[in-house]
Amino acid sequence: MNLILFGPPGAGKGTQAQRLVQDLKIPQISTGDILRAAVKAGTELGKRAGPLMAAGQLVPDELVVGIVVERLKEADAQRGFILDGFPRTVPQATALDAALAAAGRKIQHVISLEVPEAVLIQRILGRAAQSAEKRADDNEATAHRRIAAYRAETEPLKAHFATQGLLRKIDGTVDVDGVYGAIRAVVGG
Ligand code: AMP
Repeated sequence: MNLILFGPPGAGKGTQAQRLVQDLKIPQISTGDILRAAVKAGTELGKRAGPLMAAGQLVPDELVVGIVVERLKEADAQRGFILDGFPRTVPQATALDAALAAAGRKIQHVISLEVPEAVLIQRILGRAAQSAEKRADDNEATAHRRIAAYRAETEPLKAHFATQGLLRKIDGTVDVDGVYGAIRAVVGG
């Protein structure tokens, strides 16, 4: 099962991805997690991405596309994968489609978690307050910029996925179990 978990920051993509990992036994591929690890390790990638992430901006497509294309070649991703936070721009989606097609693979479902903006801000700030490991970008000013980046650069992807017949919209405002149940109704298993 090759899935994309799609939605704005704070929609619950990471939480739902972890449950799918456990139940479907396929890996979560989160570009945000990979980039945060690179920032922490102080790699070249981390040095380029870190300031943009802290400012709530997207990192350039060429940085993330290569990471994902390589990650998808690994053994554990051959049975399937859950992309979380990628693709976020139309060029990223096009590059993903090309890489998968070259390997004779394709996305089965794009699960879009639909959550209104006011709820997103509350959730991001709640996560900041509760989290043991604080994210540099979980503060109110940056949260607004991340949501603005989503609206401008990422949300237009919905039309791309709808044209492909892949878009599955799910109400992301209900509780975690309710959202998960709706996702499983789509992906089956
Ligand atoms: P996330 O954990 O998915 O919210 O990602 C945190 C930050 O990492 C984002 O605000 C971006 O700065 C960067 N990032 C993660 N994934 C991508 C992506 N696919 N394209 C561009 N930037 C990304």
